[in-house]
Amino acid sequence: MSISGTGGVSFDVDDETALILESLEEFVAQEVEPLEEDLDDLLTNPRRGYHEDGRLTDELLEAREEVRRRSAEAGFYAMNLPEEAGGQGVPPVTWYRAKKRLASKGPGLARHVLAGPEGPKPLLLQAAGEQVERYLEPAIRAEKSTAFAQTEPGVGSDSPNMETTARKEGDEWVLNGRKQWITNAPYADFIQVFARTTPQEEAGRYGGITCFILERGEYEVGSYNNVVGAPGSQAEIHLDDVRVTDERVLGEVDGAFYAAMEFLSLGRLELGAEAVGFSEFLLERATEYANQRQAFGEPIGSFQQVSAKLARGRAKTYAADAAGLKLAWKVGRDERTVMDSSILKWFATNVFWEIADAAVQIHGANGLAEENPYMGLLHQARILRIVEGTDEIQLNTIASQMGIGGE
Ligand SMILES: Cc1cc2nc3c(=O)[nH]c(=O)nc-3n(C[C@H](O)[C@H](O)[C@H](O)COP(=O)(O)OP(=O)(O)OC[C@H]3O[C@@H](n4cnc5c(N)ncnc54)[C@H](O)[C@@H]3O)c2cc1C
Repeated sequence: MSISGTGGVSFDVDDETALILESLEEFVAQEVEPLEEDLDDLLTNPRRGYHEDGRLTDELLEAREEVRRRSAEAGFYAMNLPEEAGGQGVPPVTWYRAKKRLASKGPGLARHVLAGPEGPKPLLLQAAGEQVERYLEPAIRAEKSTAFAQTEPGVGSDSPNMETTARKEGDEWVLNGRKQWITNAPYADFIQVFARTTPQEEAGRYGGITCFILERGEYEVGSYNNVVGAPGSQAEIHLDDVRVTDERVLGEVDGAFYAAMEFLSLGRLELGAEAVGFSEFLLERATEYANQRQAFGEPIGSFQQVSAKLARGRAKTYAADAAGLKLAWKVGRDERTVMDSSILKWFATNVFWEIADAAVQIHGANGLAEENPYMGLLHQARILRIVEGTDEIQLNTIASQMGIGGE
């Protein structure tokens, strides 16, 4: 007698996904790793990557650009976007697995193979008319990079309360306001900036916000917002009477917040995949070290306080990965994923944080050494618990989806 059957659930890696992952591996080995070897000193010495004010060095920027360009040529960079737009139209599960696989290679250049915050996001698929040729297509080909500007000095989590405005004067929109913490702002060819176009009292909490495309030179890039451990990527944007015509409205006037909310789950899936991939990288490195490093005449892994950290990390990464796959699967079926995406974002980034901390601890002083990747990843984990909805915002969402309390 046998007890079997899957009840319709499948964790199979289908043939197409297997092929994509295999060719990604080949691409990384042939096109990315040689670049990493050439730039070993730059990549393992974080201080060589940026100037005193935080600006990334040309050498680092060019290396990342080179990876993106080669990846776009090979058809990987924007693989999740539809074929009509110039992407590959791969399903969310495949994209999740690819993102995770690249992150599992650690913090080198491989993570730049697939589009990140500088690249085309689904929001840009709203491009119409000339916008397609001028912004969407070059972004997909990695010839132009972009930034998504929502956060302001006065509002982060509560972004619908933004103070940046765009008012219509004749044929022109006039934008005023300040954005900060905008990833890739110092280097972007164009930005997608959110501004209030109709007051909240008239348009409702999430209405009345419009997205505008501004080209470099049309706005001022202010100071760098340098984060500990990973400076140089975020900066302020100053909008002082910036004038553009309707041609720069991305999507519907007053509809940008709703459009952005449609793609929230994909953003959280992306961060979840990175968190799981980096956790796998750290577990592998820390396991190797625990088996090899000797103390008191034994490998440190034989001490239960060390092995338990790794075992807990393995169990939690396993669960986070399952949550990632389930979210990707549901997104691919166009199912409602508000709670699933908050669960993944909160859980996977906290697991990553816990494992990064364990990896530092297990490596002892070597864990703190600048030339090793552990403190850098600990910082990265800390960042992921704040961007795209903090821990608290994710837990609020889960609670409200459970029918507890407020919104
Ligand atoms: C590295 C990095 C990159 C970023 N990139 C971008 C980007 O490209 N584009 C962009 O627009 N923004 C970007 N941001 C900004 C980021 O999205 C915000 O920092 C984030 O949304 C949190 O906003 P805040 O920092 O203003 O914190 P706040 O919203 O002021 O929150 C402060 C604290 O209060 C808590 N809190 C707030 N409201 C509640 C509540 N209702 N219940 C419980 N707790 C609450 C928060 O969880 C947090 O712990 C980036 C930030 C960083 C650090």
